[in-house]
Amino acid sequence: MAYNPFTEDHEMLRESVRATIAEHITPYVDEWERDHVCPKHIFKLFGEQGYTGATYAEELGGSGMDMWAAIVIARELARANVGGLQLSWYANTYLAPPLINALGTDEQKEQWLKPIISGDKICSLGITEPGAGSDVGGITTTAVLDGDEYVINGSKCWITNGTMADVIMLVTRTGEGHDFTLFLFDTTTPGFSAQAMTGKLGMHTSDTAELFFDNCRVPKSAVLGHPHNGFYYIMSNLQEERLIGAAMGAYAAEWAYEKALAYTQERMAFGRPIAGFQAVRHKLANMACRVEACLSMSLRAVEGFMAEGPAAIGLVSKAKAFVGEEAQRIVYDAMQLHGGNGFMEEYGLARTYRDLRLFSIGGGTTEIMYEIISKLEVDKVAHAKKGIEKRS
Ligand SMILES: Cc1cc2nc3c(=O)[nH]c(=O)nc-3n(C[C@H](O)[C@H](O)[C@H](O)COP(=O)(O)OP(=O)(O)OC[C@H]3O[C@@H](n4cnc5c(N)ncnc54)[C@H](O)[C@@H]3O)c2cc1C
Repeated sequence: MAYNPFTEDHEMLRESVRATIAEHITPYVDEWERDHVCPKHIFKLFGEQGYTGATYAEELGGSGMDMWAAIVIARELARANVGGLQLSWYANTYLAPPLINALGTDEQKEQWLKPIISGDKICSLGITEPGAGSDVGGITTTAVLDGDEYVINGSKCWITNGTMADVIMLVTRTGEGHDFTLFLFDTTTPGFSAQAMTGKLGMHTSDTAELFFDNCRVPKSAVLGHPHNGFYYIMSNLQEERLIGAAMGAYAAEWAYEKALAYTQERMAFGRPIAGFQAVRHKLANMACRVEACLSMSLRAVEGFMAEGPAAIGLVSKAKAFVGEEAQRIVYDAMQLHGGNGFMEEYGLARTYRDLRLFSIGGGTTEIMYEIISKLEVDKVAHAKKGIEKRS
């Protein structure tokens, strides 16, 4: 029997997500894409329907389901080809909230996490800056203690949900090296401003912003977790975000492949369906193998994470690196098999092609994933070899 981690509860959730997409998203998404609109009411809708809180505890307003529930939602959004909205949901649900859940005080959870889960508030994760993306250790936004308050100065860029956020999980520098402190930054704080970043290749229905902090004074109670530990908190949180990212890419690739499979049966050339040509059949067969690899790697990463938590970093990084790249190639091939129609918005693949380009950049680039993997794999062998040489 084919591998199936999904229970009856997951399938009920799937039905609900499909129905919501069909009623509230599909009829409008082309217009939102064209006008580059991130519809704010979708956050409320997703909160009410339980899609933001699916994997959070019932006492927080969530459904207390396991990580497979997140994968169900990610899959249905991928198959609806709404990458921008998927990114908005993903950022609002899995970039900042896991750490608020893990480290937040009861008051912080009451003030921020519960309203995020219910869809009444929106959140962002603010790490990246104009001068520091992959090199997280290079951030320069500072928080300086002044009496009972911290004074924050600096800027962030490419922050998803940034102009709409009520709260930003903000990463600041509070000393030398990796001395970072996290804040739950209230966006009504004087001195804060946000500006939409325009001119994006894709993800047109997501909100991407530059954030500016000009002498913003925040109370000590806004610190998330222990001050000065922020770097380690951020690093431990990345696995959850990356494995859901990998699954989103794998399901988008699966959808594109299925579209190509159907199209090649219908499209006639030289008197027969193009799926009759061996070159086309073999391309489809090759795509089927690569889709399977993407799905297998991303679902194995989910299993690894559910069993080991952040210690599954190897599996997660491999899935993020491989799927982030391969899903784009699969969509490229699906477009190729559509010929001129693949180039047209009407067939949907143009949007997928644009949106998926982010998957090897956002949340840690492929090169950074390879750095992590090589530390785990290559350095391990080098250390073991050194140990043998020392003993002999
Ligand atoms: C649409 C969108 C949404 C985003 N949302 C968010 C968000 O919500 N919150 C947030 O904080 N950030 C967000 N980001 C930022 C994203 O995480 C960064 O763009 C990403 O981490 C890469 O950083 P960078 O752009 O500064 O590239 P750089 O770090 O400048 O990298 C440039 C190139 O150099 C390579 N490189 C860098 N260091 C190494 C190395 N050591 N070895 C080999 N190659 C290396 C990179 O892999 C890349 O190819 C978003 C970005 C986009 C485009």
